[in-house]
Amino acid sequence: MPTVRFQSGEMVMGRWPGSNLYYEVKVLRFSPKSQLYTVIYKDGTELELKDQDIKSATGFRTRSRSRSRSRSPARRRSRSRSPARITRRSSSRTAAVAAAAAITESTPNSRRDAKLKDVLENPTKPVENNSNNKHENKEENDTANKVTEPEAKVEAEPEMSQGRYNLRRRKDDGDAKAVEVKQLQLEEEEAKPTTVPAATSTTPLDFGGRIGAYFWLLFLPAWVLFLLLQVTLVDPSLANFPPPLPPLETLFDGQALGIVLLWTLFQALLYILPVGKLSEGMPLRTGERLKYRTNGFFAIVVSAVAVAAAVYQGVDLTYIHSNFLQLAVASFLGSFLLSVYLYVRSRYVPPDQLALGGNSGNVVYDFFKGHELNPRIKNFDLKFFCEMRPGLIGWCVINFAMALAEMQEQHLEAPSHAMILVNLFQLLYVVDGLWNEEAILTTMDLMHDGFGFMLAFGDLVWVPFTYSLQAYYLVTHPNPLGLPALIAIVAIKLLGFYIFRMSNSQKNAFRRNPSDPKLAHLKTIPTATGKSLLVSGWWGVVRHPNYLGDLIMALAWSLPCGFSHLLPWYYMIYFIILLVHRNSRDMSECRRKYGSAWDEYCQTVRYRIIPGIY
Ligand code: NDP
Repeated sequence: MPTVRFQSGEMVMGRWPGSNLYYEVKVLRFSPKSQLYTVIYKDGTELELKDQDIKSATGFRTRSRSRSRSRSPARRRSRSRSPARITRRSSSRTAAVAAAAAITESTPNSRRDAKLKDVLENPTKPVENNSNNKHENKEENDTANKVTEPEAKVEAEPEMSQGRYNLRRRKDDGDAKAVEVKQLQLEEEEAKPTTVPAATSTTPLDFGGRIGAYFWLLFLPAWVLFLLLQVTLVDPSLANFPPPLPPLETLFDGQALGIVLLWTLFQALLYILPVGKLSEGMPLRTGERLKYRTNGFFAIVVSAVAVAAAVYQGVDLTYIHSNFLQLAVASFLGSFLLSVYLYVRSRYVPPDQLALGGNSGNVVYDFFKGHELNPRIKNFDLKFFCEMRPGLIGWCVINFAMALAEMQEQHLEAPSHAMILVNLFQLLYVVDGLWNEEAILTTMDLMHDGFGFMLAFGDLVWVPFTYSLQAYYLVTHPNPLGLPALIAIVAIKLLGFYIFRMSNSQKNAFRRNPSDPKLAHLKTIPTATGKSLLVSGWWGVVRHPNYLGDLIMALAWSLPCGFSHLLPWYYMIYFIILLVHRNSRDMSECRRKYGSAWDEYCQTVRYRIIPGIY
């Protein structure tokens, strides 16, 4: 029988996840099933903590500002060091120590050492917040902002020498209602080492952690290669042994590389043109909102005109079909070099610009997962551009090229019905994404994920070269469709599209303006962060209605290819795995952000993606 050490209502010290910092928290309840305590912090954040992350309040020696005089043994001990003796400099240095302590918790080694030195040598310099944890960031900022306040009555020098106190201040960011701030200056029972400890990750590692990152780095390119070799076979069974690798020198082609480069530059040019709306992204941890040129629809229209003009001028687009592997290899090289650049630059950007994940301190994991949240060259947002432009629009061009190749290969005067459906369905998906480009600003990729190999490879290789496999397959594997089948497939696509579009638009509209009168009829659950969760409408049906719509559409993309082979169903299978995993990643992230409000949402909306099933 487990012992319950702390009772509901008891004030204890709770460790803030991913750090060595303890804050005063109130125990709300204990769950014998999960063996977790639900606690509430002073700013209203509710979290579940393990027993070992909670300590009795009496186990701490509290040093405090004058306000908490009665509870400050340190103060009693040092009566002679009156507040009057505390100079601006010393309070600055105290803050510097606090900042240095924070740096030791979250910065990768090399930069951390430099920052530590910098902070200690320049205590009056504004302190860079180094935590990737929103909660801590706010507090570090508060602390840093406090450094020159005359009333900061803290003992600097002993702290400098011991190097183990943190000056922390908390305040509410929820409803803009100022909460009585209680600054805790804590010393843990055990003396911490004075040397700089290793950097710790502020979020759990995804994708199998460090070992997983090695695996995915090797597996993903190998898998794309396998698929592309399979699709050229007469009998492209996924169960087939991989076909022999072509000679390496045939995989690399200078012309293919040139085409990929030109295409990317062309898209970059369209992106920077001062055409279209400048949309604001979601607020970052710093409170800043980045601006994005959302002219994707313009870009695809101009691209379509350019491609049509090229074909009219005699450019043979079937080159894409006959050099597919070389184009994929060239794109892979581009995505790899881009990822190296992204990783290197992420080592030099301020910590508040890093993603919460991707800061494990392990080079391979961080390279794979992505370290910097919004890498930009001036106003050119690399992540946004790669997510929405060269790969997505390139996918449509590839599909179109496959339609031409099919006509050539099968001596047709027009593409087959199956090919037309695949082309139109996927074109609709891309055009819709670009028409509603602003909506991507509220998605996980843009808001939470760092930009590294995972997204760069996904955007530039995976999407254009594996999402077009159905069209590629149809070039040499005709699948005649009768009218009833055609109508049924179109109906499935439209149903999926409707669910997908409506649910994404509803969430996007709500996140952009929660008091939008058009959404007034929807029920919501407030959370401690100030944001609310939709609990009716599309988001009351399942927790990810947009995934449901997307999956139904995926079904409609595979059906035109028939059932002779599994390969054209590969997208559907992969997509189920992707969305199930993505859903669980998002659930953990939302649970971390919203605590018990998220639990309440999950209790109300019981199914994740498919009503009544999953
Ligand atoms: P979502 O657009 O569903 O974004 C998830 C976020 O929405 C959560 O982190 C949370 O963020 C917010 N949210 C969750 N529940 C609620 C709620 N009840 N009320 C209000 N906000 C809520 O996820 P994705 O970014 O994964 O997907 C976006 C679209 O892209 C989907 O349609 C998906 O199918 C599609 N997609 C397509 C892929 C493809 O390869 N074809 C790949 C991946 C995605 P917060 O609270 O912070 O706002």
